[in-house]
Amino acid sequence: MADLETNPLGLTFTNRFTRDLPADPIVENTRRQVHGACFSRVEPTPTAAPRLIAHSAEVAELLGISPEHVATEAFAAVFNGNLVTADMDPYAMCYGGHQFGNWAGQLGDGRAIALGEVRAADGSFQTLQLKGSGPTPYSRGADGRAVLRSSIREFLCSEAMFHLGVPTTRALSLTLSGDDVMRDMFYDGRSAFEPGAVVCRVAPSFLRFGSFQLFPARDDVDTLRTLVEWTIRTDFAHLGAPDDGPVPNDIITKWFAEICRTTADLMVHWMRVGFVHGVMNTDNLSILGLTIDYGPYGWLEGFDPEWTPNTTDAGRRRYRYGNQPAVAHWNLVQLANAIAPLYAPDDASGLSDEEAEAAFREQVRPLQDAVDSFATRFDTGWNEMMAERLGFSGLRADDNELFGELGRVLQLVETDMTIFHRRLADVDVAGATQATDDALVAAIADAWYVEPTDEQRGEMATWLRRWADRVIADDRASGTAADERIAQMNAINPKYVLRNWMAQLAIDRSEAGDHDGITELLEVLRLPYDEQPDYEDRFFVKRPEWARERAGCSMLSCSS
Ligand code: AMP
Ligand code: MG
Repeated sequence: MADLETNPLGLTFTNRFTRDLPADPIVENTRRQVHGACFSRVEPTPTAAPRLIAHSAEVAELLGISPEHVATEAFAAVFNGNLVTADMDPYAMCYGGHQFGNWAGQLGDGRAIALGEVRAADGSFQTLQLKGSGPTPYSRGADGRAVLRSSIREFLCSEAMFHLGVPTTRALSLTLSGDDVMRDMFYDGRSAFEPGAVVCRVAPSFLRFGSFQLFPARDDVDTLRTLVEWTIRTDFAHLGAPDDGPVPNDIITKWFAEICRTTADLMVHWMRVGFVHGVMNTDNLSILGLTIDYGPYGWLEGFDPEWTPNTTDAGRRRYRYGNQPAVAHWNLVQLANAIAPLYAPDDASGLSDEEAEAAFREQVRPLQDAVDSFATRFDTGWNEMMAERLGFSGLRADDNELFGELGRVLQLVETDMTIFHRRLADVDVAGATQATDDALVAAIADAWYVEPTDEQRGEMATWLRRWADRVIADDRASGTAADERIAQMNAINPKYVLRNWMAQLAIDRSEAGDHDGITELLEVLRLPYDEQPDYEDRFFVKRPEWARERAGCSMLSCSS
């Protein structure tokens, strides 16, 4: 272990994951199936010419990396994988998962290598993980690299989500590697070289549902138990598991129930901001309820529950916007199945097969209850979120019908969800009853992608009047002033989100050598709920027509 003083960035590595959990005994970097281990030690592959092109000042500060350190060559070298100091303990995680509903067996970090875990300035533990830093034992046929376009998307979206208040892994840095990476962007036989890049992701834990699925799939309940107990003691210390000895089942149940809750809450956030993950495989769901693995994600522009950004998923649309809560639920069922073997009765001797089965069912009932609670948690959270974003002080029994009607009206003509919700606060509620349809819908008319017919305008106006009545009664009953309510609405309905074409414009510039578009977007997205009038004309606008069918804007693939 190196003298911590010598860490060139002033970081203090703690490395509890690799210190405590079973390691793959093989250290050669060859593709293989790894058994009985949570990770494989592997070094990042050095790149040709590391160059920092963007970083998050907030994440650097969280980690205690000073601006002077960020400016050093060592910073770019460390976060490109070219400088590994003796206090780091680099590794790739071993996990499995269901991809598009099918069990895929071992997956693992094929192109992510954690440098180790550090103690952050606020006392929290944070793992620093490089994405795109070369092959690992889990790379299967692929190269372990990432291209600039997908790295820009991951970097920007991680930070945008954080500033929106959505739980997420963070991004410290975006570095160019100086290496070219070959990609077939649409799997259509047209491969091309693209600039390679590395993002340093930061999170208290990168464990996924799939991390817990692989062991039971191989009948390795011992390693499963080791990982579950370690996770509960380390990342869920508030559950009060004993320091030694087995973690009792009721604490395991509490742990799982917490994952159900945080996952439900995450889905409410995604639905609110219009985020579509695109690849909600079980290896891409975090046990901390964080948004993780930014790939072919997209942001809803026209409100359409059927929309998916992922061309790989275009046929079945499993991961479409409106299906995300149902998929999260399905994924939780898989996680419950994975940990169920821990609930097997200690002593089944003397029981018939039927009795043993019945005893087991009894044992796992709390897991079933926790899974079932997902729907209630999500529904309640979603209804409360909707009430808040529409400016109500609480939820009324008939609100659900009003929300459902809004969903219908928003789909009569293509309507931008973000602009609609933001502009709603500008509608003159006091004058709504008297106003003509045209005057009433004027405030939100910017959100329409096409001119609605008079009838469609009328339907929107009818909904707005109903909503206005509800708001006026609510303001009166709760003693809320109009400007207070407007401020409340603007604090939950973002004005600026990372629209797909905005990211693509920054990518186009960056690929041409001008990286300022990335920093500019980061700047705007730092304050998504603020008015920021200087940015309004460019970034508080509907998707331009050119972006409707453009690759990277409406069509994304897993090739990244
Ligand atoms: P994803 O669904 O994109 O999160 O990735 C699924 C699996 O493929 C994970 O095990 C990744 O680590 C792996 N993977 C994706 N891209 C690459 C790559 N370029 N090289 C190696 N492994 C990759
Ligand atoms: Mg993944």
